Amino acid sequence: MDTVTKAKRSEIMSRVCGKGNFSTELRLGLLFARLRIKGWKRNVRALAGSPDFVFPVQRLAVFVHGCFWHGCSKCYSAPTTNRVFWRSKIVANKKRDARALRLLRKAGYSTIVVWECQLRQPLIKQTINRIKRAIAAAAAKRA
Ligand SMILES: [Zn+2]
Repeated sequence: MDTVTKAKRSEIMSRVCGKGNFSTELRLGLLFARLRIKGWKRNVRALAGSPDFVFPVQRLAVFVHGCFWHGCSKCYSAPTTNRVFWRSKIVANKKRDARALRLLRKAGYSTIVVWECQLRQPLIKQTINRIKRAIAAAAAKRA
């Protein structure tokens, strides 16, 4: 049985995840390094939505979304306590995400969203290929 109450769990989660999804971001950063994918910057606050990674030359913005906080369509399940609070929170996050993508595209950026679950097996390889294709496509658009 779960020894932590649900309210406590929510509190722990908000504390752990409060600063965005650091470990997921870190995982992608390490992946870029390992694959020798260069030319990116972290947390570009000057751009809409502070993209987690930006490739300035290709004008590509990469968002890494935690499945819980951004309401992943595959993994998100709402906490059973404080339903109203969580629903409005996640809905607001999703709206903010959509708005950031819109603004970036309007500003001439290509965008790609990588979900936390896509950085795990068995999807990781597919995700890497998708990112590589996005970088190449963004570069081609700029050429
Ligand atoms: Zn997910």
